[in-house]
Amino acid sequence: MRRRWTIGNCWLWCERTALPVLWLGPVLWEGGNAPLHACEGCIRHLERKVRGVLICGATPSPAPERRQPVPGDCWLWCQRIALPTLLLGTVESAGHQVPLYGCESCIRRLEDKVRAALPYVPA
Ligand SMILES: [Zn+2]
Ligand SMILES: [Zn+2]
Repeated sequence: MRRRWTIGNCWLWCERTALPVLWLGPVLWEGGNAPLHACEGCIRHLERKVRGVLICGATPSPAPERRQPVPGDCWLWCQRIALPTLLLGTVESAGHQVPLYGCESCIRRLEDKVRAALPYVPA
């Protein structure tokens, strides 16, 4: 898959807008997918997390249920560990397909961004 830098908003930690971002992968979103974009710094941050997960060998099941909380670590803003998390989507990182998890409050925060970014979200 070819990756292309575009100018957009970073949806991860820095939350900056109008900067070069890369498409990371689809996040599950109310019956559809939303494209997740992140800037270079945040992608590096994510890749460090991913590497940690891979080294631990904690490969999550390939198709976890959406909205089925699993105990784990939030990968988003709060960075809390060992709390119920939900699958957000799968991102491509360092040649791996990696499931991305977040806690409920961080997912809500991301969903607000998605809602603001998508032009065609039904009311
Ligand atoms: Zn960023
Ligand atoms: Zn969180």
